[in-house]
Amino acid sequence: MKLSGAWLDNPATQTVLGLLGQAGHQAYVVGGCVRNAALGVDVTDVDIATSARPEQVMELAGAAGLRAVPTGLPHGTVTLVCDGQGFEVTTFRRDVETHGRHATIAFSDDVAEDASRRDFTMNALYADALGHVIDPLGGGLADLHARRVRFVGTAAHRIHEDYLRILRFFRFHAQYGDPARGLDADALAACADGVGGIDQLSAERLGAEMRKLLAAPDPAPAVAAMAQCGALARVLPGADITALAPLVHLEGPAPPRWLRRLAVLGGATDRLRLTRAETRDLTRIRAALAENPRAAELGYRLGAELAGDICLARAALLGHPLPEGWQAEITRGAEARFPVRARDLPHLHGPELGAALKALEARWIASDFRASRATLLG
Ligand code: ATP
Ligand code: MG
Repeated sequence: MKLSGAWLDNPATQTVLGLLGQAGHQAYVVGGCVRNAALGVDVTDVDIATSARPEQVMELAGAAGLRAVPTGLPHGTVTLVCDGQGFEVTTFRRDVETHGRHATIAFSDDVAEDASRRDFTMNALYADALGHVIDPLGGGLADLHARRVRFVGTAAHRIHEDYLRILRFFRFHAQYGDPARGLDADALAACADGVGGIDQLSAERLGAEMRKLLAAPDPAPAVAAMAQCGALARVLPGADITALAPLVHLEGPAPPRWLRRLAVLGGATDRLRLTRAETRDLTRIRAALAENPRAAELGYRLGAELAGDICLARAALLGHPLPEGWQAEITRGAEARFPVRARDLPHLHGPELGAALKALEARWIASDFRASRATLLG
């Protein structure tokens, strides 16, 4: 198989690969970019694997006038900047010792050794500068085309090396798996056996994996499998998957919003590192779900995006259809402008002014945004 695309053919990628290749090293693009290009999915970042040692990578880059940032020297990674684009260049590695998350590694000259320590066969694919795909372990391309998420080696063994792979298994299935085929039974059993290891993973990594999983077009089957093997309860204690598939159905082709899916799952989120904005939005969605506000009022108070999340989540959780015209109602509310200003109440100041404006706004909302300025002030 031969790949092409701007991500590979552009001068920056070619420069970095050429720099290493011309010095006699092996250098390949690897992992997500190869997988995505082979599937016809957008490539976001281009990772490079090479037989060159990190200090050789730094030296070659320096000689060619490229900026080299030692972003992960202990595990062999140097980031090269070419035409403003960053490339993570990592030396071939093999695991010497594993500790359930971080491994002690040794550098290697053998691309097959490098492939063996990768998580899934579809992530253990490489391509040279011309786009020729290299599948050092064999079977990776076939798995990719069949959209089969399969561990490199024995699932149980690979999971005990690094428990993050449990989360990655469900995430990659949701993103790239064949929805018609269930998840691999042996891998699921190994996940069930290893779920205790999830407790030692950082909130940051769990958050990052859940974000990607829930942003997949349809994460429901993978999340159901996660619940069944006990992984979901470790990540999101108290979560309930019942409303997730109905939510995905109600969303239709609307762009997936991971936070909306998270809100519908419920459960405690302290095992996930969320941003301040995510925590605020999740709290707002959950608070609104406990009440029963009109779509237009939600649009006015929270903006169209969160209002949409709440209406969809609410319908999914209650098993109700969406109220007719809900989107137009949200837009109407989001565009409504409260007609009274502080200067309309010149006799009031401070907290009194605040309270009066709030009361008038509540009357105006109750009038379905119809009461005029004159009516409100009269
Ligand atoms: P994404 O599009 O989500 O970035 P990706 O495949 O690039 O997908 P990364 O997490 O960026 O995923 O990892 C890059 C590559 O490194 C993977 O394709 C895989 O080969 C390898 N990899 C990453 N994490 C692990 C892990 N925990 N165990 C083994 N290999 C891993
Ligand atoms: Mg990546």
